[in-house]
Amino acid sequence: MTPDKKRAREAAQVVLEEFGIKRIPVPVERIIKSKNIMLEYAPLDEELSGMAYTQDGISIIGINALHHPNRQRFSAAHELGHHVLHAAEINETVHVSKGLRALKRDPVSSQGSDPLEIDANTFASELLMPEKFLLEEIGPDGLDMEDETSVEKLAKRFRVSVAAMKFRLGGLI
Ligand SMILES: [Zn+2]
Repeated sequence: MTPDKKRAREAAQVVLEEFGIKRIPVPVERIIKSKNIMLEYAPLDEELSGMAYTQDGISIIGINALHHPNRQRFSAAHELGHHVLHAAEINETVHVSKGLRALKRDPVSSQGSDPLEIDANTFASELLMPEKFLLEEIGPDGLDMEDETSVEKLAKRFRVSVAAMKFRLGGLI
C-alpha cells in the first residue's frame, strides 16, 4: 500500500461538507460522535498518540489523555482518518498511531513512514486546518514562517499544536 494524499484530503473535505463546517475550530469530537464512533481517552505511552479499531461492528477511537488538548484534537482527527480511509485494515485489528511522530523517517527502513500514518496525518491536517480557512486567516499579506508569535496565534485559532501548524504550513502534512 502506498500513501494517497489526494484521496485523504478529499475524504476530509467530504466530512467538512457533510457537517457544514463554516468556521474554525473544527468540532472534531462532535463529528466523531455523530459518526457513531466511540471516543475514549486513556493514558498511553508518551510516543503514542492514539489508536483506532473496529471490534464486533463497533468503531472505537482511543486518545492519549496525557497529551495537550490541542494535540489530542489532531490525534482524534488522525484516528477518524483511519476509520474513514482504512476501514478494512483496522477491522478486528488494533491500529496504534504515533501521529506526527510518524513524519520522522525511520532510519532502518528506506520506505520511511507507514503509508497508513501518512494518509491519516494528511486527513487530520485537512480536517482541522482546511486550506480555505487557512488562507482566510493568513490574509492577503501572507505569513512570516520565521515569526513564532504569528504561527502560535494561527495554531491557537485552529486549536492545533504549533508543531502541527508548522508541518501544515511547510506542506509536510
Ligand atoms: Zn495512525
